[in-house]
Amino acid sequence: MAGLLFVVAAASGTGKTSLVKALLEQTKDLTLSISHTTRTSRPGEVDGVHYHFTPKDRFVEMICDGYFVEHAEVFSNYYGTSHTGITSQLEQGHDVLLEIDWQGAEQVRKIFPNSIQIFIIPPSLAALRQRLSCRGQDSAEVIETRLSGAVEEMRQHVSFDYLIVNDEFYDALLDLQSIIRAARLTESQQVVRQQDLLIGLLN
Ligand code: 5GP
Repeated sequence: MAGLLFVVAAASGTGKTSLVKALLEQTKDLTLSISHTTRTSRPGEVDGVHYHFTPKDRFVEMICDGYFVEHAEVFSNYYGTSHTGITSQLEQGHDVLLEIDWQGAEQVRKIFPNSIQIFIIPPSLAALRQRLSCRGQDSAEVIETRLSGAVEEMRQHVSFDYLIVNDEFYDALLDLQSIIRAARLTESQQVVRQQDLLIGLLN
């Protein structure tokens, strides 16, 4: 059985990473694909856990070698999802989650048309600015760049299957969990997930 592929995208500062972290902690058999990036690590970030931090020249080689399912330039850094990160997991029937930007989501949609694409928006621009500032990880210049890009990014919501407003964290988390649960409950998924039960019931 092929596992389900979930894609979660949002404008920077929308709280996507915290939501995904909580979702992964509370959801069985959902694997996060660890992206490669050319950006430098932030305090607390661990290579191989949060990202595979990769020098730019190596990243470019990897693009040429066809290593990535998708890759994009975001705020002057490259980010990419490796084939190895997701294909074998899906083939083994495990569900995989990608936390990527809208450009990557667009590429994934073409390769995996059945992927379930979720876009998260903030409750207001003021809330977005506050979240970017409070993170304390980026310079004022970086924050302004990210904020000005956010509106353009948010226009991409039209291409996604689901739209979640991250106003109250636990409401947004519940929305995310509901999407995962509903996707796992479709008949085509359940016929495989509940194979033994169905055989027992129907014979
Ligand atoms: P950050 O530098 O804040 O960790 O991430 C910046 C943006 O890059 C976020 O929107 C994040 O979701 C996105 N991103 C992270 N990994 C990938 C990836 O593998 N591919 C793409 N296209 N975007 C990614």
